[in-house]
Amino acid sequence: MAPARLIELAPDALYVPGAVNVGVIRNAAGEALLVDTGGDKEYGRSLRKLLEGAGLRPVAILNTHSHADHYGGNEYLARNLSLPVWAPELEEAVLHYPYLEPMYLFGGAAPLAGLRNKWLEAKSSPVDHIYEVVDGPLVVGPFEVMRHVTSGHAMRQVAVGVGAVCYAADAFFGAEVLAKYEIPFVHEVGGQLDSLERLLSLPYDIFLPGHGEPTRDIAFAVASNRAAIERTAEWVRGAVTGGATTSEVVHRVTSRLAAPPSTLSTYFLMHACILAYLTYLTSLGDLAPVVEAGALRWVKTP
Ligand SMILES: [Zn+2]
Repeated sequence: MAPARLIELAPDALYVPGAVNVGVIRNAAGEALLVDTGGDKEYGRSLRKLLEGAGLRPVAILNTHSHADHYGGNEYLARNLSLPVWAPELEEAVLHYPYLEPMYLFGGAAPLAGLRNKWLEAKSSPVDHIYEVVDGPLVVGPFEVMRHVTSGHAMRQVAVGVGAVCYAADAFFGAEVLAKYEIPFVHEVGGQLDSLERLLSLPYDIFLPGHGEPTRDIAFAVASNRAAIERTAEWVRGAVTGGATTSEVVHRVTSRLAAPPSTLSTYFLMHACILAYLTYLTSLGDLAPVVEAGALRWVKTP
């Protein structure tokens, strides 16, 4: 899907709406810094066209995390425009070796061919600069932005701030995205809750999620995202009744959804996400994993 337009959030902070929103930070010299690049080569090519049409010259890519839909355009842009790429520590391994994503979703085994698609495995991207995931300024070529730790959705993730705008990546999801998917992907539930809390303390007027519309009401967005997490935790807790296996928990929880997973990709994303909830509830002392006679069952702790 080609990006249609460039939208101004503030004078030097723009974005390209799409399945993944791409941030565009510009300076007076007409240079542009891309925050993520969308899902594939075609998207990268259309971003290039769109920016050039607007008189902007992309000079660098800053990736927020390593999910394929956020860095799939890197390879085309880096190769054709010689753009240097900045990637977060740890996540940079996946940009380099995209095979890691379907592999970890498949429990560390060689993944089924059905998981090796562009949604889960982008083209390998060069990584020129590995940055630490800490709070503070980050110089990216001719730009200086603020980075804010928002890990939780991914192993490491940053939100990127410039002027009045925060490119929050997948630290929160837009209302329409929450309504559609009901259980947004999370790698570590406690981290995602901390990141939501952190968003409330950041000094920006406008917050753009990786998926969905920009908002000026971050308190409302955080409350809706928190509610979705709490509801999912309740569903997972409820699904454990009777000592359920992980597959049973996944099935019981997803049978509540308007659109349960119906492909290998959506199933294994959900499977990993529900494991994250099982880990979280275990760390709270609510559940325990019991391995017995070759079966792993989740039980409620008394
Ligand atoms: Zn993501």
